[in-house]
Amino acid sequence: MKVALIGVGQAGGKVTERLARFDADMGFEAVQGALAVNSAKPDLQSLEFVDTQLIGADRVNGHGVGGDNELGTEIMQSDIQQVLNGLDGRVTSRADAIFVVAGLGGGTGSGGAPVLVHNLQQIYDIPVYALGILPGQNEGSLYQANAGRSLKTIAREADATLLIDNDSWHEQGESVEGAFDRINDKIAQRVGLLFASGEAVEGVGESVVDSSEVINTLRAGGIATLGYASEVASEDSADNIRTVMTVARQALLTGTSLPNATTADSALLVIAGKPEAIPRKGVEKARSWLEDETGSMQVRGGDFPLESDRLGALVLLGGAERSERLERFMERAREAKEAEERDTDPAEELTDERLENLF
Ligand code: GDP
Repeated sequence: MKVALIGVGQAGGKVTERLARFDADMGFEAVQGALAVNSAKPDLQSLEFVDTQLIGADRVNGHGVGGDNELGTEIMQSDIQQVLNGLDGRVTSRADAIFVVAGLGGGTGSGGAPVLVHNLQQIYDIPVYALGILPGQNEGSLYQANAGRSLKTIAREADATLLIDNDSWHEQGESVEGAFDRINDKIAQRVGLLFASGEAVEGVGESVVDSSEVINTLRAGGIATLGYASEVASEDSADNIRTVMTVARQALLTGTSLPNATTADSALLVIAGKPEAIPRKGVEKARSWLEDETGSMQVRGGDFPLESDRLGALVLLGGAERSERLERFMERAREAKEAEERDTDPAEELTDERLENLF
């Protein structure tokens, strides 16, 4: 699937850069263009591999918006034309879809990405997707509240929102901040493989996935998730039937970008590896298992030929919002929002009975 990427905010820019670099390193050529947009100049200056666009210079002078996502929204609204102009040539007729990438808990990405998605939808006929990063549980309440509002808005505006929970791909005991680099690498590999898997590969049989299957899987709208797992392939094809089942199971149950999201409207299973190591029977078995597990009758499947000693399973779920993890997050965001309002509402403080009067 040929894509144009636009990263908004710090996380959006960093992840976009990783994705573009991974795609180039692997020689996939799925990423047609990548742009990073931010109100913080230093964040843009740290990027080397993507084009950059500073916004809001007249309001915040390149210093960013802190955690103020309403300001992030306003700045994107005022400078939207500049951003859209910067896209000319990147969203060529060859792009099958646009992905707007952002951390939903901050300011610029959280507030700006939904506005950008909304405007892109008015202009382009190709699907506009969001790749949204949810704050980890240990991040502060402002991040949770911001992400709740941003997610609600972006999920409404985008054709689908692929969610990555910052808690899902980091190792136990590691702080989220310390893990960003590794999480970003994982995002780049997995999402990069998804883009590439929707590319026709010359000279390989018909079971290769094409971009319309990715788009059809995301057609359910709402929330999408992505899971991945891999294991060393064996010489013996009977063993590989078992390996395909194992990696498909792990990809869905433990390797997913949003933990415990297993109910979905549609799914796509891509098995990656050397074509001769991919057993048809294993792929069919894994696909029907995925049908049972997700409760979806629309499970697509295909192979992705990759020069590797391993067999990998990539599982994309569409319409996966009925998830316990997501409900817990929205609850956390609501509570955080209430707490923020309590903290900032002087009238409430005045009537707070726990405070003693001076006289
Ligand atoms: P913005 O620049 O104002 O849009 O805000 P940030 O992008 O810095 O932060 C928004 C959210 O993204 C926070 O919840 C952070 O946890 C998360 N975040 C920041 N940097 C990274 C990163 O490099 N990788 C990942 N996965 N998440 C990040």
